[in-house]
Amino acid sequence: RAGIKPGVDLPIDGCPRPRALAPPMPAPPPSAPAPASRPPAIRPHLAEPLLRLARLLQTTLLSANPQQQIRIGRWSIATLIYGLGWWIAESSRQRWQLHPDAVRVFEWGSLLATVLFYALLRSGLNQFFPDPALTVPQILTAQVLAVYVYSLLPPIRGVLLMLQVLALFFALFNLSLRQLWGLCASSLTLSGLTMVLLTRLEPQRFEPHQELIHFIILLAVLPAVALLGHQLQRMRVKLQQQKRELEAALNRIQNLANHDELTGLYSRRFMLEMLHLHLAAQTRDGHTATLALIDLDHFKQINDEHGHRVGDEALRTFARHMQGGLREIDLLARWGGEEFLVLLPRTRPDQAQLILARLAEQLRGETVSGAPATLRVRFSAGLTNLPPDESIDRAIERADEGLYIAKAQGRDQSVICIGA
Ligand code: GH3
Ligand code: MG
Ligand code: MG
Repeated sequence: RAGIKPGVDLPIDGCPRPRALAPPMPAPPPSAPAPASRPPAIRPHLAEPLLRLARLLQTTLLSANPQQQIRIGRWSIATLIYGLGWWIAESSRQRWQLHPDAVRVFEWGSLLATVLFYALLRSGLNQFFPDPALTVPQILTAQVLAVYVYSLLPPIRGVLLMLQVLALFFALFNLSLRQLWGLCASSLTLSGLTMVLLTRLEPQRFEPHQELIHFIILLAVLPAVALLGHQLQRMRVKLQQQKRELEAALNRIQNLANHDELTGLYSRRFMLEMLHLHLAAQTRDGHTATLALIDLDHFKQINDEHGHRVGDEALRTFARHMQGGLREIDLLARWGGEEFLVLLPRTRPDQAQLILARLAEQLRGETVSGAPATLRVRFSAGLTNLPPDESIDRAIERADEGLYIAKAQGRDQSVICIGA
């Protein structure tokens, strides 16, 4: 036979008719009482409006962008701590006779810093900075304000040393090691200089020996925190690397499982998954699709006459050719041996038959590398539709019946078998 003659050989009648649908279930006797309509199991929860309000506040005050939300979230922790500082300064003003101007400097300073960083973060201007979280400037500001309150509240200054440690904690997560050690050094320098200055200016309130002890405590604690941060960072880098390697390995495994090694086409397993997904989508949107089971003609002969390597090359030639000729939305899989399965979505079987005829015609012009120039690859196909209420297996069986008929009728052609 010289090629596929679409529309000529359509032995639809040669295919078994689909089985009749099972008779519908008998209707319940009219006397049977209808099930009482129950109240909905889940009542609208009382917390629902509160949750909605929280979500609204989250997107309005923070940001809709999750990364910006994290950044503004960190800013709010710092703001809370500044707020606490405000309360301590205000409530201690009388008791410790704090100078009102000195308290005001702290209050205005922290307010200015808070508003400035919020404006930068909320407006998105922060994203133009190398570190969009603005971690270094925020920590430096916190360090300056912490040494300021240290000098402002002498009776509790020992406890306030904690603020320097707290500020450094914010550097542990997203800063480089150089920046981490840099901030540790800036904290020690700022604190040390402030302590020296205070012992000089007010030796009665800032006793040198006590200041020395405070500084030694900071000297012991801050580098220890930085060191822990250092180890944490190394662990994080290692974990990230392992995650990347695992992802790459998983991708490789998935690729191996989803593709046929010889032709690079989809594997049978993956094709089945795709077919099920397609069938579900088709049931929803109602578009028709065609399934084609293809088998290379006299392939054993190619192997026998030219060797297995040429046989492999013929399979690759066929796969390359079909993949190049089909549409992006069509799915082509190696079904096994020299059999292939094609899914042509949004295509009627008669249209698919024309497509296969065109591809078969073009394949006639293709040579197989390493084989005599006269060797050509030909194929037969069984085509069928995919009724939404039918199983994939049944559709494939019907395509196989079409293929069987195509072979029986002389090969190099495609036969349509329609399912109801
Ligand atoms: P028909 O036209 O009736 O389909 O005849 P055929 O020779 O194509 O069919 P048959 O089932 O007799 O032979 C299929 C051959 O395909 C046999 C098998 O060795 C060969 N084959 C299956 N997989 C591969 C493969 O991966 N590489 C090679 N080179 N040959 C393969
Ligand atoms: Mg076969
Ligand atoms: Mg064959």
